[in-house]
Amino acid sequence: MKILVINAGSSSLKYQLMDPDSGEVFAKGLCERIGIDGRLTHRALEKDIKVVRDIPMPTHAEAITAVLEILVDEVNGVVKSVDEIDAVGHRVLHGGAKFTESCLIDEACKQAIRDCIPLGPLHNPANLMGIEACQKIMPTKPQVAVFDTAFHMTMPPKAYRYAIPDEYYENDSLRRYGFHGTSHRYIAKRVAKLMGRDDLKVINAHLGNGSSLCAIRNGKCQDTSMGLGPLAGVPMGTRAGDVDTTVAQFIANKYNKTIDEVLTILNKKSGVLALSGGLSSDFRDLEAGANAGNEKCQLAMEKFAYEVKKYVGAYAAALGGLDVLVFTAGVGENGPTIRRMVCEGLDFLGIKLDEEKNQKRGEECIISAPDSKVTVWIIPTNEELMIAQDTAELSK
Ligand code: ADP
Repeated sequence: MKILVINAGSSSLKYQLMDPDSGEVFAKGLCERIGIDGRLTHRALEKDIKVVRDIPMPTHAEAITAVLEILVDEVNGVVKSVDEIDAVGHRVLHGGAKFTESCLIDEACKQAIRDCIPLGPLHNPANLMGIEACQKIMPTKPQVAVFDTAFHMTMPPKAYRYAIPDEYYENDSLRRYGFHGTSHRYIAKRVAKLMGRDDLKVINAHLGNGSSLCAIRNGKCQDTSMGLGPLAGVPMGTRAGDVDTTVAQFIANKYNKTIDEVLTILNKKSGVLALSGGLSSDFRDLEAGANAGNEKCQLAMEKFAYEVKKYVGAYAAALGGLDVLVFTAGVGENGPTIRRMVCEGLDFLGIKLDEEKNQKRGEECIISAPDSKVTVWIIPTNEELMIAQDTAELSK
């Protein structure tokens, strides 16, 4: 089977053509500057080809057309015709409380995604544009929506409710939803396979440019660090993570800013970027800076690791123990220093890293010491594979 996985943003669209069984990726790429001018970057993996082309993309429909054209291109393509593509899987940010799993896209599903726009105002409209462009160009292909929030719908009310007046929950569905659900679900499944059992207490630390932690019991989400939106939890590349909302009120009042302007500051100008004095949101730069004696970079790394560590402690308490700690995503997979800083001093929880194994990067492996009570893993995440597998299953 060949599944096309689409992740549509407001002005970009990422794609992968892959086999859902073997996980083999035939081609992948990115359309950028949709609605501005348009650029396609395409890789055909087996042929070891990379092409970058400027192609006008006034809307997502032209972007999808460009993707299909290059996928069947004699030189740069990987299939003879679009007929070889069995189905299309779409990453959708917000499924609200309605979607507890992926779904085959029909009018009702699209309407439900539309109904969630107030909860995901930036992403859901873009995701819908991607879906509608694919439906227009490939009307006969099954399309499946895979939601970033769905995995978290097993949280109990004590985890997902905010302690705010009831009406905001009853009337407006304001609650914790959580994100990176497809990544957390992939890790939950993978851990069960690697450990040979699924009755496990697991904490997954998805640490990338955006970061979230997830407490998983018996393969199901019990709690997660992001909330109604992705601003909550640990500090991130440019997001502040948890801050007292009084901070927002203070900035708005003193600097005469609207709440939207303050949220832009908290989303785009905060996090480790801000703590490093504006130097970088990239942990490679922060580490280089810290090694060169830059105290702000050092503080940014310490703050990040400290907050991740606090979530590990909190979730071990929430789960009533811990069997497995997983590090995944850009920093989790590739950052030995952050992993060491997070795990330092957690021997009382049974977490003991093996310093040598911890030097590994981007490789599925155990990095805890043989006598560590908790098994610590690096597991490279694979959201696209989850999307492709759900799509294959639902379009059968
Ligand atoms: P996104 O949230 O955008 O999907 P990724 O999961 O790709 O992000 O993670 C991107 C981050 O991974 C970068 O900001 C970078 O800081 C970090 N990263 C990548 N390689 C390394 C490395 N070798 N050491 C430390 N951090 C790394």
